[in-house]
Amino acid sequence: MTKPSKEEETPRPAGEGESPLERRFRRLGLSEASDFVVHLPIRYEDETRVSAVGGALPGQTVQVEGEVLHSEVQLRPRRQLVAVISDGTGRLGLRWLHFYPNQRRQVETGRRIRVRGEVRSGFNGCEIVHPRVTAAGGALPDALTPVYPTTDGLSQSALRRAIGQALDTADLSESLPESICHSLALPSFKDAIRILHAPPAGMSIHELVERGHPAWRRIKFDELLAQQLSLALARRHRRSQRAQALAAADAELLQRLRASLPFALTSAQERAIAEISADLARGYPMHRLLQGDVGSGKTIVAAFAAAQAIASGWQVAIMAPTEILAEQHFSKLGAWLRPLGARVTWLTGSLTARQRRAALETIAAGEADLVIGTQALIQDKVHFPRLGLVVLDEQHRFGVAQRLELNRKGDSGDTGAGRMPHQLTMSATPIPRTLAMTFFADLDVSVIDELPPGRTPVITKLVSESRREEVLSLVHREVRAGRQAYWVCPLVEESEALQLQTAVDTHAWLSAAFPDMAVGLMHGRMPSSEKQEAMDGFRRGAIHLLVATTVIEVGVDVANANLMIIEHAERFGLAQLHQLRGRVGRGGGQSVCVLMYQGPLGMVARDRLKAMYETTDGFEIARRDLEQRGPGEFLGMRQSGQELLRYADLQSDSDIIEQARAAAAEMMASHPGYVDRHLRRWMRGRQELLRS
Ligand code: ADP
Ligand code: MG
Repeated sequence: MTKPSKEEETPRPAGEGESPLERRFRRLGLSEASDFVVHLPIRYEDETRVSAVGGALPGQTVQVEGEVLHSEVQLRPRRQLVAVISDGTGRLGLRWLHFYPNQRRQVETGRRIRVRGEVRSGFNGCEIVHPRVTAAGGALPDALTPVYPTTDGLSQSALRRAIGQALDTADLSESLPESICHSLALPSFKDAIRILHAPPAGMSIHELVERGHPAWRRIKFDELLAQQLSLALARRHRRSQRAQALAAADAELLQRLRASLPFALTSAQERAIAEISADLARGYPMHRLLQGDVGSGKTIVAAFAAAQAIASGWQVAIMAPTEILAEQHFSKLGAWLRPLGARVTWLTGSLTARQRRAALETIAAGEADLVIGTQALIQDKVHFPRLGLVVLDEQHRFGVAQRLELNRKGDSGDTGAGRMPHQLTMSATPIPRTLAMTFFADLDVSVIDELPPGRTPVITKLVSESRREEVLSLVHREVRAGRQAYWVCPLVEESEALQLQTAVDTHAWLSAAFPDMAVGLMHGRMPSSEKQEAMDGFRRGAIHLLVATTVIEVGVDVANANLMIIEHAERFGLAQLHQLRGRVGRGGGQSVCVLMYQGPLGMVARDRLKAMYETTDGFEIARRDLEQRGPGEFLGMRQSGQELLRYADLQSDSDIIEQARAAAAEMMASHPGYVDRHLRRWMRGRQELLRS
């Protein structure tokens, strides 16, 4: 299978002659018969039986038949139509607050009617408000009535009709080889689909809705299998691409880099460096994720990768999510690599037009070996004649769109001769196992699972806002003792202006509280020269206390800072708190992170703070984060507005993920004909998303 063309990637534009109905269908992602077929009910109504009036309980939705004993239009307390029916087992009230003349005729005294609706307890016993009424004795359906997810202005009946038609016309043929269906005891696709759209009368609604029925298992399996297959194809596709083998002709350069370091690499770092080095020497593009907790020393590993590419005569681009981090990389990596003769340039959004032009020219002329920057690096105008390696730091902070952009950058021929650059992504956020098996399965992963020696775990304190004075004296004490501190301002999500104001106010207030201290300020909207100044001052020790917004969240590395105060910690997410806390505990000596909170705390906030208090282990934090937030946000997919999985659940269906993974391998190897058919049904145009 080849890579999808551009047309397939972009959603189909609204057709000229599209009807309002079609537009609504499209909003639900329904355009072809095969889409309708896998648009499955969220619940069902049971209209297959008529039950006894006497057994109706408040809260139930029932269908009963009976004779109208009485009906009238009441005028008080408001105009309404009321009726009472009986079937000999009991009586049931009916009430309409709005009604048409024919509804009144439907319930004339003496008529036998069938009514349906939710029972509630009324003034005179049980009643249904606005019941659906038909004549008694009509034929009963022999299947449960499906209720589908829908959108504004699209009725259930229109959906049911369209889906019913699709079931008649669509290709429902089997997309799994017999051997897989058989060994996993899965029903056929056709059976599963028919059961879910029209479960036979008597089937347990509970089992259907809880998605425990074998038919549901088949659907979830299919969905997860499609995902595994596209990942396998992506991997095959990548292996079929060409990349420049970066075998480091000049091996001495790497030796010099190693010799210049003031510390010995940890064995985990050595291992990661060796894995990356082997990948870079191959003729197909590396896609490797370097995962290591905050402070584990990922940057130097990236430096080795960069050095190898540069020693082979190719360019390296390193991208960071914030300008401050890019700047820090620029100075750190510069200090490591410049002495080896590397030409280092940087490119961010805040350069003046002239600086930017100069940087672009240098890059395009091949006169920059290492280019460090922010998102600006993936913009169209940046042309790398010999791009050999792209490094993405704090990968989780980039949206899917940006990661795709980066892939295309390689595709667009920047590397010349149809070659793709190698890709190294780095993240402190470990990927939980189920996600690793699914959305990230195309990545090879190197893990740095040990911290550099001599680090003492950060002590975390939870302190109520009312004990602010104590926090101030703690800051005072530490600074007196020659240490430095961060003060993180509360997050104000509703308004950026308010957020900045808070930072400015906090800075003023802390400056007044500590007249004998140098208090610095840093926020995202400061001109980058001022940001740089503040950061430099802090790094040099000229600033004792740095008041900052979350701009310092990722990457910032100042070893002498050993105290961090986070105000309104209850407003931050778990991953964010962990990253922030990771700014301290980078040198020797004891570090402290104070999470100030303002009660009363909601459940989720309490769990989050508790997790922070209980553990400093990034893996554990990530696990709890996933539990609290779900995978979508974890992946940074919110921006893309795309659904990941519609039916399977990464947490509760992990056993099915395992099966799907094994089945995908078997299908790729022994049943290639089925692969395409399965993907066509489940993945139309969505494969690309999985490759980001
Ligand atoms: P992160 O993995 O969070 O990006 P960094 O690369 O910023 O971590 O490294 C954190 C700090 O640890 C840096 O100051 C770095 O120079 C230092 N460091 C990295 N590796 C080692 C090591 N093996 N021994 C001692 N210090 C190290
Ligand atoms: Mg880092």
